[in-house]
Amino acid sequence: MASGKILSTRAVIAGGGPAGMMCGFLLARAGIDVIVLEKHKDFFRDFRGDTVHPATLNAIYELGLLDEFRKAPHQELRDIAAEIEGVSYPVGDFRHLPGHAQFIAIMPQWDFLNFLAAKARSLPHFRLMMEARAAGLTASGGRVTGLVAETPDGTLDIEADLVIGADGRHSAIREKAGFVPRAFGSPIDVLWLRLPRKESDPEAALGRVSAGLLFVMIDRGDYWQCAFAVPKNGFEEIKAQGIEKFRARLKKAAGFAADRIDAIASFADVSLLTVTVDRLPQWAKPGLLCIGDAAHAMSPVGGIGINLAVQDAIATANLLWAPLRRGKPTLDDLNKVQARRAFAVKAAQAVQVAIQNRIIAPTLASTAPVKPPFVLKLLKAVPILRTIPAYAVGIGVRPEHIHSPAEAD
Ligand SMILES: Cc1cc2nc3c(=O)[nH]c(=O)nc-3n(C[C@H](O)[C@H](O)[C@H](O)COP(=O)(O)OP(=O)(O)OC[C@H]3O[C@@H](n4cnc5c(N)ncnc54)[C@H](O)[C@@H]3O)c2cc1C
Repeated sequence: MASGKILSTRAVIAGGGPAGMMCGFLLARAGIDVIVLEKHKDFFRDFRGDTVHPATLNAIYELGLLDEFRKAPHQELRDIAAEIEGVSYPVGDFRHLPGHAQFIAIMPQWDFLNFLAAKARSLPHFRLMMEARAAGLTASGGRVTGLVAETPDGTLDIEADLVIGADGRHSAIREKAGFVPRAFGSPIDVLWLRLPRKESDPEAALGRVSAGLLFVMIDRGDYWQCAFAVPKNGFEEIKAQGIEKFRARLKKAAGFAADRIDAIASFADVSLLTVTVDRLPQWAKPGLLCIGDAAHAMSPVGGIGINLAVQDAIATANLLWAPLRRGKPTLDDLNKVQARRAFAVKAAQAVQVAIQNRIIAPTLASTAPVKPPFVLKLLKAVPILRTIPAYAVGIGVRPEHIHSPAEAD
């Protein structure tokens, strides 16, 4: 793909999501010239996952930004619970986690990304280009040497010592690179919707399970953000059955919030998010590295995808700031990122796939009342054990710490 204008930088990142923004910020903070391209004109898109987990919050603390972060509008979630056939079971308690954040911050993702963008923009080495879509790669001598961006002012060649694909699960970069992900399939999709919240409602995030129904409610201050799991490709059938039938199912699923189902006036109030789980066998080739969902698309199960994307970004900066200061990172340098992150990703995806296949899909297919697994009874009886699921969700395997420096020299 050829173009007129040419820009040169050290690292160009396709995608201004959690992975791309954090990685761009950290590399620029270490004195590396970075351009981040985001295809949308702002970060304002709903239902992209609004959870900032303790492992990410610990990194924000290490950057000296946690107090400021906590001033932005958010809720702090200290408990997660499951309600099975009307009986509540506490599942996770974040209060005893190690580190600097004993909660999950529920923050609209655009606020989180705007926060990172504001911090990054104050750095001389950082440039964010909105409405700039990475559309192709340039290569020379077997090495990726940059990318072609489509902007409202025309196409732009950006030459760089490193191209990072952080453009999410439908990554154009990984496709242009010829990378083919291994797909793990998903028996479910998710419908997202909002229900009004009342002062008297409980505070914990709730997963509600009953025969054929799985409904998750996340407290967003004046409303509940709700996820309604459906069998894969099941939304068309639901729409064909009509809104009244859907509202009746929602009423059954929503428990204490059943009195406000009228907030869903039509299917225009319901967004379908298809669920994909996949992973690239190889995240890098000379001059190019994929991270975040572009390297491994995460399911919404556990709400851990943003955290993993941020952890990839931290590892990328930790491992590549020094090679970038020296010159062009080698393929060995780039492969170290995958070597560092692969185990955490594989472990998280294995758990997500197991929960999707062994718990969620059978629950959606079942007509008999759902029996609570023994582990939930145990967590109910022994409160301290609730720290274990909280650790698994909030911190996870191999949390990353900021080792990239803050200075340019
Ligand atoms: C239904 C659903 C619900 C989820 N809920 C949660 C949750 O609650 N909590 C959680 O932690 N995770 C959740 N996830 C997973 C989470 O959304 C992802 O794992 C996470 O967003 C990955 O971050 P990322 O930065 O790698 O990619 P993304 O967040 O997808 O960001 C990629 C960015 O790149 C931009 N982009 C795409 N193509 C281009 C291009 N060609 N050029 C320039 N820019 C481009 C996009 O606009 C986007 O801003 C959910 C996933 C699904 C499917």
